[in-house]
Amino acid sequence: MRTLAVIGAGAKGIAIAAKARALAAAGLGPPRVVLVERGTPAGTWTGDQGYTSGLLPLGTPPEKDVGYPYPESWGAASGAVTEAMMAYTWPRHLIARGTYADWVDRGRLRPAHREWGEYLRAVGAACGAEIVAGEAASLDIEDGHWRLGLAGGGLIDAAGVVLTGPGPPTQVPGQPRGHPLVLDGRTFWQHAGDLGQRAGSICVVGSGETAAWIVITLAQQCHERSTIDVLTSRGVLYSRGESYDENRFYSDPGDWPRLAESHRREFLERTDRGVFSVQAEATLNKLHGFRTLAGRAVALEAGQRQVVVTIGYGEDRERVAYDLVIVAMGFNSRWFEGLLGGEAQRRLAAARAGDDLERLIDVNLAVTGLEPPLHLPVLAGLAQGPGFPNLSCLGLLSDRVLRRYVPLPETAPQLSERSYRA
Ligand SMILES: Cc1cc2nc3c(=O)[nH]c(=O)nc-3n(C[C@H](O)[C@H](O)[C@H](O)COP(=O)(O)OP(=O)(O)OC[C@H]3O[C@@H](n4cnc5c(N)ncnc54)[C@H](O)[C@@H]3O)c2cc1C
Repeated sequence: MRTLAVIGAGAKGIAIAAKARALAAAGLGPPRVVLVERGTPAGTWTGDQGYTSGLLPLGTPPEKDVGYPYPESWGAASGAVTEAMMAYTWPRHLIARGTYADWVDRGRLRPAHREWGEYLRAVGAACGAEIVAGEAASLDIEDGHWRLGLAGGGLIDAAGVVLTGPGPPTQVPGQPRGHPLVLDGRTFWQHAGDLGQRAGSICVVGSGETAAWIVITLAQQCHERSTIDVLTSRGVLYSRGESYDENRFYSDPGDWPRLAESHRREFLERTDRGVFSVQAEATLNKLHGFRTLAGRAVALEAGQRQVVVTIGYGEDRERVAYDLVIVAMGFNSRWFEGLLGGEAQRRLAAARAGDDLERLIDVNLAVTGLEPPLHLPVLAGLAQGPGFPNLSCLGLLSDRVLRRYVPLPETAPQLSERSYRA
């Protein structure tokens, strides 16, 4: 049986494992799915690994669970696949815990990240996800297969590899690691409990969802005489568009490739990148004690008592000293490039032929022209649909990936094999 290796037993990995189990139940022959996880499954959501306190609300409605939007990807077998996926829904999870009515009566609130992580782990257990403990440390191609090396030893051979996870926080030039006065979107949450004691000048760099919740937490917990500057390259904090017309592309990207590339890029800017959710906006609107500054953090110089931020806005440069700087500019979705060995790099470069990787993601969310397949849902937003990098259509994502390995029932609609380029 062929093996599909997924780096990360988080939302995407567990959704793929659940779908593979559902395909088996429906009589389709899925590959063996192996999830490689360096920490706790769904650990990003607990608060124990940074990234969140665990108590922040999920931005996405939980009804967009591991099977959503329950697409009919498997022809005559679609009904059986969906039936099998019903074992892994969010309502089913709450029913099993006896909290479904409570959740409905309270207005179907967004769960805390920690609760979402519990749901994912419950799905992983229910579908019998095969999880290998270890950190993916290297990835190369040998004899037509992926060879995934684990830190501390161990190899996994796979016909295909899926990369998941937000990646490490994006950095500003000069940003030191492990400095007590410089935190980031991951480490902030591991120190948030210590912030209430001292007044100080604080700079938050960034304007997305992570930055928004950091500002909210600071404004609620810091000493009342603290000042908080939020540095945003666009000069204004924007909230996400959440109209039906915007949301529908996240659930069902069928029409997405018909939009011109420039319009797809505009859509992603407007609804996804560097914007925050309406929940975060509603909370921010009630808060005082922070101000927005227009500019980019061009460089950081961290001393023992203060951190100097060089702020660039157009041609202007200004140096401002702060007592604490939190860099929350998002996460590096290209982190996987550091894993790739020589042969993988050579083949990836040949497949790209100088083009932008984001434009080359095919219907299976893999790099066009690269064999064996490397699935990069995190980069699939531009070419395939805005929901693939995040939690918006985990069921469709799983179908798109697994259809590369599962012989189609004759009646199933064929996926177009071309990648979409404007
Ligand atoms: C705090 C936070 C809140 C977010 N909220 C939302 C939201 O509400 N809605 C939304 O759509 N998106 C949200 N996102 C974006 C989010 O990154 C993705 O939507 C989501 O994580 C996708 O699931 P995933 O499986 O890719 O990642 P995760 O669920 O984070 O799982 C990735 C897993 O990979 C593991 N891992 C990483 N590197 C390695 C390695 N080298 N070896 C082995 N294991 C590894 C990690 O330990 C982790 O368990 C949020 C991101 C963050 C950081």
